[in-house]
Amino acid sequence: MTSIQARRMRRPVLQADIDAGARCARPGFDPDFFFRADGEPPATWQAQRAAAVRFCHGCPVRAACEELALRDGDGNPRVDDLVRGGRSGHELVALRGVQAERLAAAISADVASDTEWKALTGIAVELGDEARRTPTRSGGMPHQSVLQRQQNERIAELAAKLAVVRSARRARTGWEVVA
Ligand code: SF4
Repeated sequence: MTSIQARRMRRPVLQADIDAGARCARPGFDPDFFFRADGEPPATWQAQRAAAVRFCHGCPVRAACEELALRDGDGNPRVDDLVRGGRSGHELVALRGVQAERLAAAISADVASDTEWKALTGIAVELGDEARRTPTRSGGMPHQSVLQRQQNERIAELAAKLAVVRSARRARTGWEVVA
């Protein structure tokens, strides 16, 4: 996939490309390679950053990864501390500024087509509603403590469901597990 093609793709397609071919997902790869350690001297980090960029440029899914990094908002204008998709954090910030309009449209289209994201949002809303609800008794209903326990179980169940979807989503971005 080229960069031009990546720009036209929706997030699930980009992610599937990364899932299938990420060079950094190969066994034994240390994801810390992409990050500057606390207190790492500038000269050491510059060498590591250059090596990480070279590594990414040998990755078959670099274009998809760069596009997702841009849509995900990776990179901090104040801190030079990472590489993703063959770009330093500062480069990602600069590219995002230049491509702001295009990226806003791509992100908006991703959200509109992302059923998993919708499901995630739905669970989060349900969890919030449940947490705010005060269980009340009415005729024939169980004791208040039983209602409270049922509500707590429901909240725990929703929180666990949310955690599973979020973890899977993060793992598939190649960012919490891989890089
Ligand atoms: S960070 Fe992205 S471009 Fe770099 S090796 Fe991993 S998947 Fe490939």
